[in-house]
Amino acid sequence: TQQLVWPMAQFGQIINMFQRAEASAERIFGLMDENGRIEEQTDVEELVVSDGRVSYDSVSFSYNNNEQIISDISFDVDGGETVALVGPTGAGKSTVLKLLLRLYDTDAGSITIDNQDIRNVQLSSLRQSMGYVGQDSYLFYGTVKDNIAYGAFDASDADVVAAAKAAEAHDFIENLPDGYDTMVGERGVKLSGGQRQRVAIARAILKDPDILILDEATSDVDTETEMLIQRSLDELTEERTTFAIAHRLSTIKDADMIVVLEDGQIVERGTHSELLSEDGLYAHLWGVQAGEIDSLPEEFIQRAAR
Ligand code: ADP
Repeated sequence: TQQLVWPMAQFGQIINMFQRAEASAERIFGLMDENGRIEEQTDVEELVVSDGRVSYDSVSFSYNNNEQIISDISFDVDGGETVALVGPTGAGKSTVLKLLLRLYDTDAGSITIDNQDIRNVQLSSLRQSMGYVGQDSYLFYGTVKDNIAYGAFDASDADVVAAAKAAEAHDFIENLPDGYDTMVGERGVKLSGGQRQRVAIARAILKDPDILILDEATSDVDTETEMLIQRSLDELTEERTTFAIAHRLSTIKDADMIVVLEDGQIVERGTHSELLSEDGLYAHLWGVQAGEIDSLPEEFIQRAAR
């Protein structure tokens, strides 16, 4: 009977892990309160990422059918490159990434990863290919170790420690009451924003995703911590396709491409220096943040308020 019972037990465990991963995809990706609205197809292949090239082709989307939130957006990110999404609040930056995660389906156009339409691949494989590090990185109630190993079910303790070291998190973790076994999350030991972020970075390093999503990844921390985080992020973003949303432009000025969104449309795109010489919205946002000009010129404020 052992032989009969054992595989069933294991099967149950796998289902459990899968459901847990599915149920919390939104939380892990920092997108609470998103119910999503997609129809999953059965009998579809797993996503196979080779280069990691992502293409948005004439993508339009609205949450409720009357207000168009994303209007006819097209851009390509080559494998391994970093694209930064920039623009005023409400421009549609997070929505662009929710569509990539397939929390919603596009109304028109398509998103492909290495020429595979994301609607035609297994959802679990799509989500498994991505890692997220964000402002509100989610820690569940459990040990630090389990939080880091989340999404990398076969990681050993040594793997966890190596990831924590690469994320500059090892030292503070060792100083917690029970080290890697310290309970964190709700009801657990409270970690600071910078510490939670480094746990999230360690989680992403361990998961080793093909595609990385960074949402204003270095905020609310002191300069020294920010330097540590930036160093670990540089390692993480190198040679993997990365989407970065940043409010402080200094963190994304080295991106391979910066896409400037306004009102759900792409209004500018290029490298930092290209966009500065265009002297448009990006150049003026940069000027304000660099302290070169006091405020956005009237024409841009009016545009942003529209
Ligand atoms: P950004 O990330 O650039 O600040 P978002 O993508 O979050 O912009 O939002 C773009 C627009 O979509 C905003 O007008 C926002 O109010 C709206 N929006 C965002 N999420 C939802 C949602 N779940 N349901 C309805 N509207 C939403």
